[in-house]
Amino acid sequence: VEDTEECRLKVAAAGGRPINVIEGPLMDGMNVVGDLFGAGKMFLPQVVKSARVMKQAVAHLVPYIEEEKRLMGSADAKAKGKIVMATVKGDVHDIGKNIVGVVMQCNNFEVIDLGVMVACDKILDTAEKENADIVGLSGLITPSLEEMSHVAKEMARRGMKQPLLIGGATTSRTHTAVKIEPHYAEPVVWVPDASRAVGVCSNLLSDELREDYVKAVREDYVKVREQHANKQGAKLVTLQAARANAFAFDWSGYKPPRPAFLGVKTLKNFPLDELVPFIDWSPFFQTWDLTGKFPQIFDDALVGAAAREVYAHAQKMLEQIVKGRWLTANGVYGFFPANRVGDDIELYADESRTRVIKTFHHLRQQNEKPPGNPNLSLADFIAPRNLSSQSAAGESSEAINARQIPPLPQVGEGWGEGDSVRTPPIPDYIGAFAVTTGIGCEERVKAFEGKGDDYSAILLKALADRLAEAFAEYLHAKVRRETWGYAKDEALAAEDLIAEKYVGIRPAPGYPACPEHSEKATLFALLNAPEKAGITLTDSYAMWPAAAVSGFYFSHPQAKYFAVGKIGADQLEDYARRKGWDLPTAERWLAPNLG
Ligand code: SAH
Repeated sequence: VEDTEECRLKVAAAGGRPINVIEGPLMDGMNVVGDLFGAGKMFLPQVVKSARVMKQAVAHLVPYIEEEKRLMGSADAKAKGKIVMATVKGDVHDIGKNIVGVVMQCNNFEVIDLGVMVACDKILDTAEKENADIVGLSGLITPSLEEMSHVAKEMARRGMKQPLLIGGATTSRTHTAVKIEPHYAEPVVWVPDASRAVGVCSNLLSDELREDYVKAVREDYVKVREQHANKQGAKLVTLQAARANAFAFDWSGYKPPRPAFLGVKTLKNFPLDELVPFIDWSPFFQTWDLTGKFPQIFDDALVGAAAREVYAHAQKMLEQIVKGRWLTANGVYGFFPANRVGDDIELYADESRTRVIKTFHHLRQQNEKPPGNPNLSLADFIAPRNLSSQSAAGESSEAINARQIPPLPQVGEGWGEGDSVRTPPIPDYIGAFAVTTGIGCEERVKAFEGKGDDYSAILLKALADRLAEAFAEYLHAKVRRETWGYAKDEALAAEDLIAEKYVGIRPAPGYPACPEHSEKATLFALLNAPEKAGITLTDSYAMWPAAAVSGFYFSHPQAKYFAVGKIGADQLEDYARRKGWDLPTAERWLAPNLG
């Protein structure tokens, strides 16, 4: 601000105007930053910090510019172009989008950022009303991929002309080429990361470059579609065959560990300082597009210095977060008697296992496996309800449907003695959890943004995310060592936890072993997460606050993370039936797993 003021006075003394300070030295500076960033010699944290300098300098000049405007009419600097951007409906993730917004502003684009969970109509109405040059969509969770495709169709239906940019962690060149671009005749471009955004927009808005650039992208996407169509993909086996090749385990000799309590417990306002040692820092650097593992990243020849600097700032802010109670950590977790039925997991009201309170539906890998490798489903890691149906995994879905197993006894009826089928199930259990460290985050973020400090805003969001994962890690360790207690002697260091060296898993709905997001509705109802922990779900089943983690606990010693991958039409139908969905609904939610 002092330098800006000095500059303003100098410019004024020479007969210049306050706007010249922006158009002159400030823009020159940002151009240097932009060039160095483009050349890979400067990194995101530095760019975002430069933007903070720019914004605060501009904020200092605005009153002078306003005054001048009042006296002599318009004095607006001309932006390179106007972009309307948003995180699509149902999604709450915006760190990447915000970074892109800052980078674009640094490069003199006007950015209208509509925020998160933005309905298609609002995005497109704004783009039309504002006469935007470009529309940018962002999203993280897989349901957003379908929503982006919908927005493209709507742009076509409205006869819009703006190019459409696609970005976010689960988006890809293939998805954009196959599922989005064919729906919209104007340019559609996937932007892999923030460092590309300016280049893409500059090309699209350049009179000289646009034609060749758009042609090249189109040709590339045609090729991607051809490759995609010709790709054999993993060869799939039938669902029946996949079930026949389920995880094989001799349950008859297995005694599942029993948790110390059944039901749900709540953690309110959990002390943040206890979570700090559980933070996995590597993803923090990914957020800033700094590649490398913590702590080796500090010695990286290219990004080491930038990594050290942003880490130092993170440490300082973390201290403020903890001491100043900037964020509130809440969690809810519970344990339930559970057994497997087909590829579902039934949860029971109590140990009598006679009343089902919730059913979780799981998917099974269908890709052809080398001999000896099972086609996994998470359901495999829970003891079957009927030992005799242990091979139920091998039955066809028809057989499972028509299973001639007598219904479960009613409450009080008990399990018939001497009845070979109605022997009580092996007493297995499943855990469930939802944690957040994002309560209070939004207000502070807004305050930083209001001060033109996007750097701190993004830093805080990234740290809230880290703390949420740390909370999940902390609670899981506590569960293994105490509550469930099957790993009482576990003595794993932080890096061992990050490397998942523990026994048991905590798979999260939406991730590869259980990729279908709507199961979170069942999970949240089971835990009453909205009321007990203040965590809610959007209509795409994204968690709010965004800094939240939820999932299941499996104790089985052989339970492991895996990816379901592509499934066949037979499993699609089977799953639709189990969920009580019609086929189009199932296709929508399972889209990422369909060939
Ligand atoms: N230590 C990392 C964890 C990232 S994975 C971090 O701090 O970011 C985040 C969570 O996703 C894990 O804790 C686990 O709950 C879940 N997860 C990871 N791989 C999974 C898979 N294949 N299937 C289901 N859930 C998975």
